[in-house]
Amino acid sequence: MKAMRLEGIGQLFTREVDKPTPGPDDLLVRVEACGVCGTDRHLFHGEFPSRPPVTLGHEFSGIIEATGSHVSGFAVGDRITGDPNIACGRCSHCVNGRVNLCRNLQAIGIHRDGGFADYVLVPQKQAFLLPAELDPMHGAFCEPLACCLHGIDLAGIQAGSSVVVLGGGVIGLLAVQLARLAGATTVILSTRQASRRTLAEELGATASVDPSAADIIETIAGPNGLVPGGVDVVLECAGVGETVIQATKLARPGGTAVILGVMPQGETISIEPFDLLFREVKLVTSFLNPFTHRRAADLIASGKIEVERLISRKVSLAEAPAVVSNPPAKGEVKVLVVPGL
Ligand code: NAP
Ligand code: ZN
Repeated sequence: MKAMRLEGIGQLFTREVDKPTPGPDDLLVRVEACGVCGTDRHLFHGEFPSRPPVTLGHEFSGIIEATGSHVSGFAVGDRITGDPNIACGRCSHCVNGRVNLCRNLQAIGIHRDGGFADYVLVPQKQAFLLPAELDPMHGAFCEPLACCLHGIDLAGIQAGSSVVVLGGGVIGLLAVQLARLAGATTVILSTRQASRRTLAEELGATASVDPSAADIIETIAGPNGLVPGGVDVVLECAGVGETVIQATKLARPGGTAVILGVMPQGETISIEPFDLLFREVKLVTSFLNPFTHRRAADLIASGKIEVERLISRKVSLAEAPAVVSNPPAKGEVKVLVVPGL
């Protein structure tokens, strides 16, 4: 079978490799689609620890082709999505229910072979059923959606809440939709690219702003802004210092700012604790997808989240190394690697 292998920092190749054999608790899954994520690019550049040689790809779904001897509840031919993040279940964080903080966290597509391949092995406890009639490309969105769901859960959005989403990549565009589903009546997206602002408004954002054109603190939370005084919830989905600072300033007194974006390790920003304290802004961070993958799969299956329009390109495994080793093209939201192409 073919697999895209990270063989060292800056060394990514599609190779012919042996098809894996499922262990007793594994599913052998024929990959239908696997999304390219910023983390794959970080892994390529050595900005995120991994264990080469390894097959990348952690946003995958596909069809079960074989099952191990101890597998139950899954059958050959079922479509599944894999939660790539494997917690040990035994460390102090796991036993306290904080599985995303597991001391021994292993991820499919980072520490063990992933979904940029014709086949991937998925431990049965990491697999979630998807409907047979689902568009085979859509299952690849379960993982990023599950990460967004954790952020939404932490945000405490209520019916009638006002929300700002900072950053209009796939995470931001999913967050806009989840905020609407959670009952927010005002959802404002801030992102620089006009095509993404248009798309966000079509996906449910009530307004969008260009942070490069105007002072967005004033435009949104100023006395004559869209939500004078600030919003109930800010979802930071850009991963840059500027937006993290904006998140703290756009939240109303008593509001919540959730940081989903990943800033480069070692980079710092300057915030004013006095301002945070006197406005009692709740600053929280959201990491990975603890216990949200099942709900993400159900949401994708329900069709209530528009993902088709987030797919910018579908590429083959042969084309995939060029995609991952280069920055995203302008306007691109999600590139899917489709082994069948
Ligand atoms: P992405 O495609 O890079 O999207 C982020 C977008 O933010 C950029 O494309 C850019 O769009 C926008 N942006 C950049 N600077 C901005 C600014 N100053 N103001 C407003 N928008 C700005 O990445 P993604 O896949 O959507 O992921 C978003 C972030 O979440 C990344 O940092 C990623 O690592 C992180 N993430 C976190 C988790 C988690 O568990 N917490 C899970 C997955 C991903 P424009 O060019 O339109 O401005
Ligand atoms: Zn653990």
